[in-house]
Amino acid sequence: MSITLSEDHRLLVEAVRDFARAELTSRDVQWDRTETSCCTELPQLAEMGLLGLRVPEEFGGLDIPPVCYAHIIRELAYASPSVAVTIAVHSMVCEIVGQFAAESVRGELLTQLARPGNLSAFAISEADAGSDPGSAKTRAESVTDGYRLNGTKMWVTNGLTGRWFAVLVRTGPDELSMVMLDAQSPGVERRSIPGKMGIRGSETAEMSLEDVFVPRANLLGRPGWGLRIALTALDGGRIGIAAQALGIASACVDLMVDYARQRVQFRQPLASFQAIQWMIADSQVELLAAQQLTDRAAWLKQEGRPYTRAASMAKLYASEAANRIAYRAVQVHGGYGYVNEFRVEQLYRDARVTSIYEGTSEVQRIVIARELLQQT
Ligand SMILES: Cc1cc2nc3c(=O)[nH]c(=O)nc-3n(C[C@H](O)[C@H](O)[C@H](O)COP(=O)(O)OP(=O)(O)OC[C@H]3O[C@@H](n4cnc5c(N)ncnc54)[C@H](O)[C@@H]3O)c2cc1C
Repeated sequence: MSITLSEDHRLLVEAVRDFARAELTSRDVQWDRTETSCCTELPQLAEMGLLGLRVPEEFGGLDIPPVCYAHIIRELAYASPSVAVTIAVHSMVCEIVGQFAAESVRGELLTQLARPGNLSAFAISEADAGSDPGSAKTRAESVTDGYRLNGTKMWVTNGLTGRWFAVLVRTGPDELSMVMLDAQSPGVERRSIPGKMGIRGSETAEMSLEDVFVPRANLLGRPGWGLRIALTALDGGRIGIAAQALGIASACVDLMVDYARQRVQFRQPLASFQAIQWMIADSQVELLAAQQLTDRAAWLKQEGRPYTRAASMAKLYASEAANRIAYRAVQVHGGYGYVNEFRVEQLYRDARVTSIYEGTSEVQRIVIARELLQQT
């Protein structure tokens, strides 16, 4: 496995790192406190090309390969886990449009997705269909030239500002399909889901669809491919969430090291206590292990090799490691880590969702074990 980035890609990751650390960290704190959307940042992100990371160059994107892409998401998450997931979900949708959209609309859709004003979202979950998206009830009735959609989707990231939604719909009693819905169509209603524990700058919405028309050309793949396309998207998406968890974990390690050096108790810096050193050492080991798993999954994807299990392993390990590392970061800060004047308090809350969305840790274990058991 070689994860060396080209010079151009290394420079891009550095540029994103510099921009994110200078511009996003303080805004991320404000988005968290006021529970307001980070999408105000989209014009600046678009200017850097971050809306077209996974869009081919011929359609105005940067066409960044998966390893470099994961490093960019990690750098965004270091400064703002909310911005990182906004870009990761959008990029996941760009990928399935590139892979599955009909020839007649693919170029136009991809061109739009790389431009501001065309953020995308991924709507498979419903109130009663989470880990089991196959039980989705949102209906798409076939009508002249297209489909008429009725139902309600839940937990949609980018759900308020987003324009293009990949929606998992039931096209028959035993048939699920995926369509690209323009959220500006009549009959679409979106409501924010307030009160999240973390990533409070990321939009999470409920979306009701009442007789919403979607042209037949906006079907991804074929009728009946819905679940297959959703799972393909999630394979790539899980690398993005692993990278988001890495960014959070990496920020936590830096913060606990800094604090342990500065804070004095018993006339010594905390860093001189072995108990603190062990928390830092364990965190660094887990961070690097998570990084390797994430790079490996991204590299397999880049090489065109199967990577479903690798992506689940990366997402499972990186998200759970980020939670443990954030817990230790708060512990090293003592009481100060419990108040929002210190960054670790927010990162601890932000880390939590990484082991829930795009498949819970339990679902990742099912994927990993299923693949292994099928082999023997
Ligand atoms: C902030 C946020 C953003 C999200 N963004 C999106 C989005 O953009 N698009 C989208 O479609 N969805 C999104 N989701 C939904 C998310 O993917 C689901 O919450 C997740 O898949 C879990 O589904 P659930 O919440 O219905 O939990 P459930 O499926 O009800 O699971 C509850 C518990 O039971 C466990 N469980 C379930 N089935 C099994 C099993 N077979 N074996 C063992 N344990 C099991 C789960 O692991 C979990 O611990 C988002 C969620 C959140 C919180």
